[in-house]
Amino acid sequence: MTTPNSKQDTRPAGNPPHLPSPSGTDFIREIINQDNQTGKWAGRVATRFPPEPNGYLHIGHAKSICLNFGIAEEYRGSCNLRYDDTNPAKEEEEYVRSIEEDVRWLGFKWAGRYWASDYFQTMYEYAVELIRKGKAYVCDLSAEQVSQMRGTPTRPGKPSPYRDRSVEENLDLFDRMRQGEFPDGGKTLRAKIDMASPNLNLRDPIMYRILHASHHNTGDKWCIYPMYDWAHGFEDSVEKITHSICTLEFENHRPLYDWFIDAVNEGRAPGSSFGQQIWHPQQIEFARLNLTYTILSKRKLLTLVKEGIVRSWDDPRMPTLSGFRRRGYTPEAIRAFCKHIGVNKVNSTVDIQLLEFFLREDLNKRSPRAMAVIRPLKLVIDNYPEGQTEYLDAVNNPEDPAAGLRKVPFSKVLYIEQDDFRQTPPPKYYRLHPGNEVRLRYAYFVKCTHVVKDAAGNITEVHCTYDPATRGGDSPDGRKVKSTMHWLSAPHALSTEIRLYDHLFIKEDAEDYPEGADWKVNLNPKSEEIVSAFVEPSVKDAAPGARYQFERHGYFCVDPDTTKSGVLTFNRTVSLKDTWAKIAKAQK
Ligand code: ATP
Ligand code: MG
Repeated sequence: MTTPNSKQDTRPAGNPPHLPSPSGTDFIREIINQDNQTGKWAGRVATRFPPEPNGYLHIGHAKSICLNFGIAEEYRGSCNLRYDDTNPAKEEEEYVRSIEEDVRWLGFKWAGRYWASDYFQTMYEYAVELIRKGKAYVCDLSAEQVSQMRGTPTRPGKPSPYRDRSVEENLDLFDRMRQGEFPDGGKTLRAKIDMASPNLNLRDPIMYRILHASHHNTGDKWCIYPMYDWAHGFEDSVEKITHSICTLEFENHRPLYDWFIDAVNEGRAPGSSFGQQIWHPQQIEFARLNLTYTILSKRKLLTLVKEGIVRSWDDPRMPTLSGFRRRGYTPEAIRAFCKHIGVNKVNSTVDIQLLEFFLREDLNKRSPRAMAVIRPLKLVIDNYPEGQTEYLDAVNNPEDPAAGLRKVPFSKVLYIEQDDFRQTPPPKYYRLHPGNEVRLRYAYFVKCTHVVKDAAGNITEVHCTYDPATRGGDSPDGRKVKSTMHWLSAPHALSTEIRLYDHLFIKEDAEDYPEGADWKVNLNPKSEEIVSAFVEPSVKDAAPGARYQFERHGYFCVDPDTTKSGVLTFNRTVSLKDTWAKIAKAQK
């Protein structure tokens, strides 16, 4: 199998890239294999996929889903779906529903479904324990002052003047923070680690902030909310996750992840007043997915929806899983793509053509064929009997003989594509032009005789003659033609709306925009083109989601708008590679 290359950035010398090994395994699976050999987790494999329910899942999330759920499947382990809802927010039902639909659509099942906010009480108790152990303190500095005093990688930070508060004072203040005595941002709880650490994340990071805001799950019960680094490890710990897989930007946070759990475990032992040791998962980082012509950021995708630049989160141009679904992508194609790109430790941008390659591979096998004419031109067969209709056999799917044949009506007046006719043909143009003979797929050879024009000089009809002996598409005298074209019988053709899609962004690196400009400058103004087109009558009752290959055009699927508007509406999922377009480009 040959595939287009994915572009790889290179890491600084001396940092070997962990590319997927040829055996199909990768550095994460190798860690797991080793753990299983040494019995580190007693053969258990438990992962989780932890989305924040603040938007729809995108293709980047699919990489993480395929990894976490895929590993659980392969090792007969488990993968939890955990909502990372430590930020207070109210309206989340829509996002939760979509996340679950998308995970299921990809073909995965979660072992347990949890909410990080269900652990708020336990996390609070652990925080109190850290205060007792002298490992956390209440700080009165503002967030701004904290970051000013944090120093730089080469300059140590300045300790907070509140760093040496007594345990009693800290316990009292933290309790009062919780009771709601202080305003938003008035105080924080900070871990007491090392203000000179070369890793800035260890310079007394904030564990809790004050925020008087309602939470969808806990309501107004809490006015202090845990920070990600403090919360995440405990969510993993409570669920007894073995391998906590996250993206590379958290590599520098791993010492903190470990510090928090170690700090709780310090002094814990069976029978001690602190209790048993808590579970300590292993964090592993991998490179996030970036795609050409695509932006993968929930915040920016939300902006596109809010500003009406796209119709919704599931607009067929969106890189969300629901957008891909509506566009006609199959979960199998997305999974095959994720498997192929594998996981590694090098940030890279994958060419979107690679995703399209796997899509075409899958759709080619499963899509019934049909004929559609997108930009119609009338073709009149002068020697064909007036008023006659015949029904010709057409192959439903050459890749699948079991799909059988269907009947396609043929008559005197047809539609062909405007692109399939030239009055003055350019070099190597083998389609219809005056004097030239071509094959109409499944039908007859036709030879162009003349054209009819309107007053303005536009061609309104192309006229031809047909050879009745070529019925079915072959000439008994062995005559050859260089082109086979699709067509529709005009009186039988169905009117449809076809939505032709192109990349949402015009720039390969969609995040590359001039300083001071908005990222939206890279939006493609022609990402959607809506045309009235014709299709053959066999697709008349196609239901939303039904997929076809429209011969010579590409893959299309029925849009759910069909049900609302009553107009059969198709989305172009992906085009076929157009050989003439390539020749034409080369001739320019
Ligand atoms: P965004 O920046 O789009 O909001 P996020 O990382 O904040 O993404 P989360 O909901 O927190 O979104 O992500 C859930 C999981 O999906 C995390 O484990 C995260 O690492 C992973 N993930 C998110 N984006 C990508 C990506 N582009 N490639 C691989 N994994 C990703
Ligand atoms: Mg996030």
